[in-house]
Amino acid sequence: MALRAKTETNGMQGPKALAGSGWSPVWFSVVLVLLLAACAAAPPPPGPCRAELARYDVAFEPVPDFSSGGCSVRDAVKVSRFGQAKLSTPAMMTCELALKLSEWEATMVQPAAKRILGSPVAVIHHYGTYACRRATGGSRMSEHAKANAIDIGVFETDRHEKVSVTLHWKGRDKKAEFLKTIGQGACTLFGGVLGPDSDRNHYDHFHFDMGPYDFCRLNPVDPRVR
Ligand SMILES: [Zn+2]
Repeated sequence: MALRAKTETNGMQGPKALAGSGWSPVWFSVVLVLLLAACAAAPPPPGPCRAELARYDVAFEPVPDFSSGGCSVRDAVKVSRFGQAKLSTPAMMTCELALKLSEWEATMVQPAAKRILGSPVAVIHHYGTYACRRATGGSRMSEHAKANAIDIGVFETDRHEKVSVTLHWKGRDKKAEFLKTIGQGACTLFGGVLGPDSDRNHYDHFHFDMGPYDFCRLNPVDPRVR
């Protein structure tokens, strides 16, 4: 019997063999197509930036590259939380910006919040990241047009205490000290930093971006050098 079974198996060719084994040509084709589709849909392995985000305990989803209205967004992620601090709404941003924000949250925002406010920051309220537009008052495109910038207005502690750039930046209390501390810290990490004393457009938020420059405009510009 064993010899006969072996002979039958070896003797069958092509579709006949498949039919004999329960694999009709149709099923074989379907499985092949599904396998190829699965290979095509498999996500690419995470790049070094996204691997770093995971190391910083950032909650994010990858965003496919896209172009729209003359703006292009590359290597972006949608972030809902940096370490201990949730974003008020999930925000799309370049992975490079997300990585700097996660470093800022972990090494500057939380230590300053615990030391100065006595409580960690639980929510960072932002006013947006991506906007396909030109820079305010300029002709070049804004870093927001590449999702390479974020505007942040309020920090909320886990005791639901709110620290607002609008209300507290110009004060002399602990909330002002907290904002000054994390704003100056941001200047060591981001390419561009703007705040309420930069110009009227930033009266209610910090603007951080990863532009190819290095400026920190948190203090009033001296009119003598303007
Ligand atoms: Zn901005």
